[in-house]
Amino acid sequence: MKPIVFIPEPIAAVGLELLNAECDCLTPWAEAVNSPADLQNESFRAPLFESDAVIVRLFKINEGDITKVQQLKVIAKHGVGVDNIDWEAATAAGIPVVYTPTANANAVAEHTLALLLGLARNIGPASHALMDGDFNRRGEFKGVELAGKTLGVIGLGRIGLKVAQMASQGLQLRVHAYDPFVPGDTLSGLVILEDTLEALMRKSDFLTLHIPLTPGTRHLINEQSLSWVKPGCRIINTSRGSVIDETALARALTNGTLSGAALDVFEVEPLPGDHLLLKAPNTLLTPHISSSTQEALEKMSLQSAQGVLDVLHGKLPKYIVNPETLKL
Ligand code: NAD
Repeated sequence: MKPIVFIPEPIAAVGLELLNAECDCLTPWAEAVNSPADLQNESFRAPLFESDAVIVRLFKINEGDITKVQQLKVIAKHGVGVDNIDWEAATAAGIPVVYTPTANANAVAEHTLALLLGLARNIGPASHALMDGDFNRRGEFKGVELAGKTLGVIGLGRIGLKVAQMASQGLQLRVHAYDPFVPGDTLSGLVILEDTLEALMRKSDFLTLHIPLTPGTRHLINEQSLSWVKPGCRIINTSRGSVIDETALARALTNGTLSGAALDVFEVEPLPGDHLLLKAPNTLLTPHISSSTQEALEKMSLQSAQGVLDVLHGKLPKYIVNPETLKL
């Protein structure tokens, strides 16, 4: 019998083709013609418990799910942030978790730059005004230039470093960063590393977040850290919603502590229709699309499918969160 691979959310054809050669893929979205499935729905989730492999995007796998799986041999994350998978429970159960860390870094970095430019030039509100027939409100949308300003990068991993390179070399921003896990104080003359988050926040005209969501980073941006920002600072988040306390952020926008926020990720997704941030001024919001480029979607599909096949074939996958689960 062929291994069963449950793929609850759409992935690009290239990965499916690779899997279809030797697996039975369960792809409920291929038949769904209307709205996207409710990922929490019990009957929608049921195939997880009888599959040999699963490929997830936002679909959550918690500790309770891990206790119920009958034959799951590998969990693949189509993406890099594995906070929707209880990978510690998977590790304890001996289930490898593979992911695709190199597939979307460029796409996310480019989206971050789009948000940075959009914030600086009020693209969101100006576009809304024009579409509402208010061309003459153009005087309200005076922007700021980026050249010579200071960009503060929080988290200098794959994505943060790419953003730093693009911003410094392409847009002539001065780039400073805070990442306690990166050694040294400068990176090839490109980025100046600060010792503390406070030092970075006090000197940045723009801040951008590129950190994983962990117990240590949850609400890193909160009432206290927002009190450190320079007047006029604008903030961008394409990492995970919960690294920011959204109530404190909405307050900082409303009282003018921050001059703008561009967000691709939210504490609760989809963002509820009555959310505070929808009423806060000077926002530019996108629905978790930083990695949604044709190129990145194909790479994530292919790398996650390859990771599944590697584990099923008893081979060491290129990108694995918990290599200790493999008995090679
Ligand atoms: P990465 O692991 O290469 O880099 C993360 C960096 O954050 C590391 O250098 C780490 O040292 C640093 N870090 C950890 N804790 C920190 C802290 N408290 N303060 C400062 N720095 C800290 O990861 P990456 O590939 O650059 O991705 C970053 C995050 O972006 C992912 O974890 C994921 O959640 C998110 N992401 C979002 C999307 C999207 O579609 N919006 C797509 C891809 C990734």
